[in-house]
Order: sequence, then structure tokens, then C-alpha cells
Amino acid sequence: MRLVLLGAAGSGKGTLAKKITSDFGIPQISTGDLFREIVKTGSPLGELVKGYLDKGALVPNEVTFDVLKNRISQADCKNGFILDGFPRSLDQAKMLEKVTEVDAVISVELDFEELEKRLVSRRTCPKCGDIDNVNYQGFTGSCRKCGTKLFQRDDDKPEAIKARLEVYKNNITPLINFYGDKVFKVSSAGSPDETYAPVKTFLVKLEAKI
Ligand code: ADP
Ligand code: ZN
Repeated sequence: MRLVLLGAAGSGKGTLAKKITSDFGIPQISTGDLFREIVKTGSPLGELVKGYLDKGALVPNEVTFDVLKNRISQADCKNGFILDGFPRSLDQAKMLEKVTEVDAVISVELDFEELEKRLVSRRTCPKCGDIDNVNYQGFTGSCRKCGTKLFQRDDDKPEAIKARLEVYKNNITPLINFYGDKVFKVSSAGSPDETYAPVKTFLVKLEAKI
């Protein structure tokens, strides 16, 4: 299955992607994660990418598409993948169309007020990438998976959050229209499991069809 996940920052799309990966055995390809890895290398490309990430702006299409294409050409993607964070604009969707088909698009929906609230209190593990939230029960400041001290991403600070949500808002409608009846919408106002349940049902049916 070749899936695209749409959802604003903080919508829980990364968490949903992990559940799909573990049930359906297809890798999660997060362009945000790929970019953060590139930044860590400290290369000239990393420096360039960092400038965009820190502002909450989109990385230029040519750079993004190169990184994405390279990743989905790897062996683990031959039975499918979940794209998390790509495409983020109509232009990117048209680029993607040139290299692969898409079987379905899952759009994770949550209102912007709630998104902002989740993002400012979000904390990330620098080692394994796990995400936690200062408002969740049992939050200690250390990673629940590996024990490393959590940190706040630079782009989870108020100014960058506003920019990211604004970019999302401007791009989402054309994307939804582009994918038309391939789109399956789900609200993430409830718990991660409540969000996942209808998605799983949808994907089981889809898998039987393709
Ligand atoms: P979020 O969805 O929470 O904003 P991501 O980890 O998906 O976080 O992305 C972080 C940043 O990486 C974005 O703000 C943007 O700068 C860059 N990025 C990720 N995906 C793309 C993309 N498809 N096109 C351009 N830039 C991207
Ligand atoms: Zn961790």
C-alpha cells in the first residue's frame, strides 16, 4: 500500500503513522525526520535546510523531492510506504505523481486552537524521536522508550508554530481536492487509539482490494 498522510503539525499524524507501520509492515517516511537527520550532519546542505526548519518554512521543492525520491527508491519501500509530511503542497503532489502511484490519502483533522496547544507542550526525544507532552499523565521529562532527556524542538516555539500552521492552512485545500475520492478523513480529537480504529478498518479493506 502506498499511503499519504496529511495533517497539520501536532495533529498526531506521526503517531498514527507508527501504528500503521507496525500493523501493516510498511515503513513511515517522514520528510521532517529525514531533514532533521541531514541537519545533524552539519554539512552545507544541512546548514541550508536548518534555516528553513528553524523558521517553520518549507524547504525548497527541489531539495525536498531529491531527499524523498532517494528514500522511496530503497528496498524496504518496494511493498509500499506511508508518506508523513510529503506532499505538503499541490506542486509536490504533482511531482510525486511522476514517480509513484498513491493508493489512499489519510487526512488527520483537528482544529487549530487545539493544535497550537498540543505543540507548545510537545517534547521530543533527541535519541529515538519519540514524542511526549508535558500535559500527559506520567510525563517526567525523560523519554518513555529510552530514558533520554526530552527537549523542545526549535520549531515547537510559538513563532515557528504559527508559521507552520499558516503554511499548512494555505496548502491543504488544493491537496485534498487533488486527491479527491482517495481521501479518507479522520478526526484526532480523541486518543491515539480512537483515531487509529477507523483508519485501520479502512486500510484492511483497502489492502484486500489492491
Ligand atoms: P511538523 O509536521 O510538525 O511541522 P515535520 O517534522 O513534518 O513537522 O516537518 C518539520 C519541518 O521540515 C517543516 O516545518 C519544514 O521546514 C520541513 N519539511 C518537512 N516536510 C517538508 C516538505 N514536504 N516540503 C518542504 N519542507 C518540509
Ligand atoms: Zn527516546
